[in-house]
Amino acid sequence: MLDVCLLGSGGMMPLPYRWLTSLLLRFNGNNALIDCGEGTQVALKEKGWSPKPIGLIMFTHYHADHISGLPGLLLTMGNAERTEPLLLVGPKGLERVVKALLVIAPELPFEIQYKELTGDTEFEWEGYHINAFRVNHNVTCYGYTVDIKRAGKFDAEKAKSLDIPLPFWKRLQKGETVTDDSGKTYTPDLVMGKARKGIKVTYTTDTRPTESIVKNAERSDLFICEGMYGEDEKLSKAKEHRHMTFSEAATLAKRANVKELWLTHFSPSLVNPKEYMKAVREIFPNAYAGKDGKTKELDYEEQDREG
Ligand SMILES: [Zn+2]
Ligand SMILES: [Zn+2]
Repeated sequence: MLDVCLLGSGGMMPLPYRWLTSLLLRFNGNNALIDCGEGTQVALKEKGWSPKPIGLIMFTHYHADHISGLPGLLLTMGNAERTEPLLLVGPKGLERVVKALLVIAPELPFEIQYKELTGDTEFEWEGYHINAFRVNHNVTCYGYTVDIKRAGKFDAEKAKSLDIPLPFWKRLQKGETVTDDSGKTYTPDLVMGKARKGIKVTYTTDTRPTESIVKNAERSDLFICEGMYGEDEKLSKAKEHRHMTFSEAATLAKRANVKELWLTHFSPSLVNPKEYMKAVREIFPNAYAGKDGKTKELDYEEQDREG
């Protein structure tokens, strides 16, 4: 099960009732964050969670509303005596930007590892399959797709008919290749069916609509997309500042054939995003205005769950 929590839903500046955009992902005891604007650690605390188990932080870009919460968060993780390394991922310049912020958060008790993106990149982290892809903002910016892959079903009858020793079954299910004492090798594909549908979440902010979003968000279970402006009349403003209107985000959701859309990164002038949702749902019905603390547990599809 993948747990998703939109910690904050604001853009540009935190407001008394709205933290800056940040997304928390929790899977199998491994927590990851996308973006970390000012106040992210307070938003976490409001949900009753500790920053200590966060092992990966991904950045879309280095505008302050997406990274200025980092030094405080790192200090709090240090105070909680975290010792495991922390992986940071983001566009080129990551190490330079973070090292500058570390001047005010020195002597952390854990190592920081850096992964700088120089183009569309896929990588694995603790059971997460992550795809970073370029979007279109006024600085280099990436969207992220997080996939929790799911193996095929184990075929016990086939394992029996192939005389595969019982102690090897579990290891084959885990994807390992096993060799017995006589040197005979068994590979998982002998007994595993074809991969089943996993869980897919896509997060994109700040950006204009792009084909890369349509392609990468395709059939996501949850698509979290920026919606800086509710009013369609603000389209020229959205174009100028390289952001989107709600309608543009809804059109992307429809084109990418996602299951559910959450809007986020609202302009501070957008007081009540819900006001515009009726029009959004005419384009894409399963759409929701993001809200601080909005949470969803995503599970594998019912019909092919084991047992
Ligand atoms: Zn922003
Ligand atoms: Zn920005």
